[in-house]
Amino acid sequence: RFHRERQRRRQLHNRLVELQGNIRVHCRIRPAMPAAAEPHDPVSHSSSASGDVAHAVDDETVLVQCSRPGHHAVHKTFNFERVYGPAEGQAAVFADVCPLLTSLLDGYNVCIMAYGQTGSGKTHTMLGPRPLAPPGPTGSSPGGGALPTPRVEVSVLEVYNNDIFDLLAEDGCAARPGLRREVPTTREGRKAVSPLTCLPVGSAGELMELVGAGLRLRARRATSVHADSSRSHLVVTVTLTAAASGGRHPPSPSPPATGRRPRAPRRASSGSPGALPESPARPAGQVRARLQLVDLAGSECAAASGARGPALREASFINRSLAALADVLGALAARRDHVPYRNSKLTHLLQDALGGDAKLLVIVCVSPHRQHMAETLQSLGFGARARQVERQGGRGRPAPRGPRSVGACGLRPPSPLFPAT
Ligand code: ADP
Ligand code: MG
Repeated sequence: RFHRERQRRRQLHNRLVELQGNIRVHCRIRPAMPAAAEPHDPVSHSSSASGDVAHAVDDETVLVQCSRPGHHAVHKTFNFERVYGPAEGQAAVFADVCPLLTSLLDGYNVCIMAYGQTGSGKTHTMLGPRPLAPPGPTGSSPGGGALPTPRVEVSVLEVYNNDIFDLLAEDGCAARPGLRREVPTTREGRKAVSPLTCLPVGSAGELMELVGAGLRLRARRATSVHADSSRSHLVVTVTLTAAASGGRHPPSPSPPATGRRPRAPRRASSGSPGALPESPARPAGQVRARLQLVDLAGSECAAASGARGPALREASFINRSLAALADVLGALAARRDHVPYRNSKLTHLLQDALGGDAKLLVIVCVSPHRQHMAETLQSLGFGARARQVERQGGRGRPAPRGPRSVGACGLRPPSPLFPAT
């Protein structure tokens, strides 16, 4: 009876999520900080915060007071599936993300992406306060042994200046040549992807430890290579693999985890599943689902920042990749046949998440302050455009007729990782 009830709830939940469309956009307004702690806004050239201009009117509406000296006050409102006010903590965000985790266990790929200017709370939202808190006393496997434990693997990568860096690589931080979708090299005729370190984890603690290691490397690189970690896009990928029919658990690629994570050797499993969008062939009898957590680089405008030299170069890469992301969402919203995924590594990397293979949640992060108003409006505009994307299966629209570009169609019917018995 327990399993039947669980199955019924899942079906209900999946139907609900599909009816709501599979791109959801939330907005989070971070708490105000003392003016001295606020990042300087290059656009307004203002250094003092003079009150908050972005407010959560209710839990679906943001209001921005766009008053400027000598002009009439203009109020702009933006609607999202959910708006978090400054007083709402990580728990509120997590509560809303939980249904997506249920989808993950049902075999859907899930992507959660944070967008916003530097200092707007993207990393805080995606990964929590730093240093990363160890997870609570959650077990490494479901209690009772009633359910098969999926194999869990994690990869952490950074996209900096349109290059992909593997933050879990044994050699510290290897630059990966990026995606080589075009090169059909494998014997099965499948296209090759760069090997990316993909490490098995046996518990939430191990997973957080690896993500923490990746973050530390991102921060170290940030001090040596670029000004701060908001200059790169971070993608944490967690891949779950389970036996397809509730049968035998797929063999772990490493000795079973015994509490400590395997430190050495750090094995790069070539053709690693999940970390890059075009996963290699899945062995028969296995189901796999992938969770991508994307902490995007700061979206502030490069032109206005007065940056020069390497800073200008990295800012222009960020602008180009975020513009490419907006273009992809625009093409999807307009249901164009050609979606320009290949215009940047970021969009190429996230092709499946953007194009319909995954359930996508975009969290637009904004600062409440007047001095960040221009960037706040830009970010909210991005979120509003992302909401216009309705992929197949969304809001009851029929699937478009005629040929579609690869990845631009709707959800694959999932194979649950824990099939109801
Ligand atoms: P970003 O990644 O967008 O550059 P961060 O996540 O690093 O921004 O946030 C900037 C600062 O604001 C950090 O000190 C962070 O702890 C704090 N902060 C951001 N969002 C929140 C929040 N919702 N609650 C409390 N502090 C926050
Ligand atoms: Mg950040």
